[in-house]
Amino acid sequence: MYSPDIIGHQAIRQRLLARLQEGRIRGSLLFTGPEGIGKRRVVLELAQRELCFRRTACGQCEGCRLFAGDDLPFELPNLLRITPEGKAGVIRIDQIREGLDSSNQPRFSRGVIEWAALAPAMGCHRWILVEEAHRLNESSGNILLKTLEEPPPDTHFILVTHRPEALLQTIRSRCERIPFAPLAPRDAWSVAQRKGWTDQDHDRWIALGEGSLRFLDEGAYRRAEAQVEAWLALMAGRSFAESAPLLLPEKDSTLAQGEQLRQPLEMLLRLLADLARMRAGEPPTLAPWQEELEVLATQSRNLRPPQEAALQALRHLPRNLSPEPLLREVALALVS
Ligand SMILES: [Zn+2]
Repeated sequence: MYSPDIIGHQAIRQRLLARLQEGRIRGSLLFTGPEGIGKRRVVLELAQRELCFRRTACGQCEGCRLFAGDDLPFELPNLLRITPEGKAGVIRIDQIREGLDSSNQPRFSRGVIEWAALAPAMGCHRWILVEEAHRLNESSGNILLKTLEEPPPDTHFILVTHRPEALLQTIRSRCERIPFAPLAPRDAWSVAQRKGWTDQDHDRWIALGEGSLRFLDEGAYRRAEAQVEAWLALMAGRSFAESAPLLLPEKDSTLAQGEQLRQPLEMLLRLLADLARMRAGEPPTLAPWQEELEVLATQSRNLRPPQEAALQALRHLPRNLSPEPLLREVALALVS
């Protein structure tokens, strides 16, 4: 019996559970796969089962209640969550080594290393969940690596990332990799419906999300939709000045400026790939925009330069350059 609020990934979850019961889970695992498909939720389920009074992650008991709601705690009797912090969005060395000063950031008071060394609660493992593990920097990654090499007994590190290539190679090689596939569209949509999404948005929501739950939040979805349309308009001849506001970072976002450019650039790459697909007689993945794409596909635009410009811009994002010139460069390659 699985918790009713987890959807998909049945095979992986069953296998992990069986291995856990047989004591065959390695100290360090790396969960990879697209963003927003529920990788983290699978880690939480493992921890939740142990605190559940029925040992099923029933979702009803007092133990399960700790895992309910959007504000998941950072420390539970059997779980420590490490997440990126601040505008730069990195996992810092003191989060791994010392924990944070609880007086100004009341999140957790112990660092990973100290926490991992505590004895596990009765009948529990100790789960250390490192979210967005690609945001470990070199120093925090190296400190973590030492613990990953020899985790204390009954302690499991689970690193979760949609960008495994951005992790230190030494960390990757220490972990057993568990790749996750996107959710089936039907499964993704059933979650969306529970969150109040209605049929009129179905086609676009499915096409944009590609089997992920990235756009459960309406603001995030509308932004993605506006980005696709801004690129389409730009290719159809609208000026950069008119399109740019929809593509550039929002000033009051908690995410670093550069990181906010990632999604519009990835959307552009999808659009260009769709144009190539249509020229080859195949249907686009962004099917709801087929009509606009069809017109563009017949034009003689060379897709290679904008593709290269977008990839180049993506490579520059970690350097946090000013977003506007970066975007202008890509737009120039698109219309020239
Ligand atoms: Zn329960």
